Amino acid sequence: MDNKRDYYEVLGVAKGASDDEIKKAYRTLARKYHPDVNPGDKAAEEKFKEAAEAYEVLSNPEKRQKYDQFGFNMGPQGFPGGGGAQGFYSSGMSMDDIFSMFGDIFGDVRGGGGRYSGFGSATSGRARRAQRRGTNLRIHVKLTLQDILKGTTKTLKIPTFVKCEHCNGTGAKNGTAFATCNQCHGTGSVTEVQQTIFGVSQAHVECPRCHGTGKIITENCSNCRGTGVEKREQQVTFNIPAGVSDGNILTLKGKGNAPEHGGINGDLLVVIDEIKHPELIRDGADVIYNLMLDIPTATLGGSVDVPTIEGKARLKIAAGTQPGKILRLRGKGLPTDQGGYGDELINVMVYIPENLSETERKAIESLKDSPNIKPSESEKQRLFSKFRHIFE
Ligand SMILES: [Zn+2]
Ligand SMILES: [Zn+2]
Repeated sequence: MDNKRDYYEVLGVAKGASDDEIKKAYRTLARKYHPDVNPGDKAAEEKFKEAAEAYEVLSNPEKRQKYDQFGFNMGPQGFPGGGGAQGFYSSGMSMDDIFSMFGDIFGDVRGGGGRYSGFGSATSGRARRAQRRGTNLRIHVKLTLQDILKGTTKTLKIPTFVKCEHCNGTGAKNGTAFATCNQCHGTGSVTEVQQTIFGVSQAHVECPRCHGTGKIITENCSNCRGTGVEKREQQVTFNIPAGVSDGNILTLKGKGNAPEHGGINGDLLVVIDEIKHPELIRDGADVIYNLMLDIPTATLGGSVDVPTIEGKARLKIAAGTQPGKILRLRGKGLPTDQGGYGDELINVMVYIPENLSETERKAIESLKDSPNIKPSESEKQRLFSKFRHIFE
């Protein structure tokens, strides 16, 4: 506490400095003492941390006000993280924490993009590594209308990259065969100098030797040859809820590939492929069936079997059933979002024969002038009004 320097003094700004002045001062110091610029220099690292701590407090209006009022005498609860007189970073804050907290402040040092980029990208690179994630897997599952009606459970064996058990996903023999990277001295990033139109520019990029981990494997795990993953048939069991549609995607979190060298698994995406029913047409929660009646049944009435999702149903046909009539089997459709079921709609058509035997032709001809075969004017109006909805 005694040798702790005043935060304003650390940043070299006046007590009443503006936010911009503080930010600018910190940025200058952070660049000067950045560990990538001073590899292995402990004194520079301390300066870097000291500046980060000062900036952490002075860039936050609430903390700055407390600091202005009480100085370092705030006790362990003074700052979140229990810093207080002990200092912010003595409570376990690492260099990586500093990078992830203040990465954005380095954002204006940029090179040509891509691999060659400034502090900001180097730090976001660290953040990405901290959350290294495996790739997603995508599978298609074919479902019948019957599966969709009831919902179903599928158990599948899926070839997946999983964490190597021998090295706990690290790729190093027994998970321990590591040494500090000698190119970046464990910092995970290296300095690159590039000539640009603005002059010489320095940038900090992910260490190519250790890929930013700061560690190198001294002996590969023999099981996974250093990748940390191995391909295995993974048995996955999952439920598909009732009522799904073609193209729906279910996401099974963490059931995708494990990343190389440890991290979070990707997801398993299950894409629903609906198998077309040979006779029923799906329309949302309803299904449609085109029923073709023959003239005698449509005229005289009778009963017919119609297919349903679950099998078949016997349907009574009233005498004088007109083509275009829609019959409805209530609740014989698929689950709705509201918790009910759709209907099966039966679209009645009447088959007009195209080829007739001599006998059949005579029979039809004999009906031609029969009084009930042609509709009366009032009957026509009744039927037209019944079907006019089709055209409105
Ligand atoms: Zn390295
Ligand atoms: Zn292994």
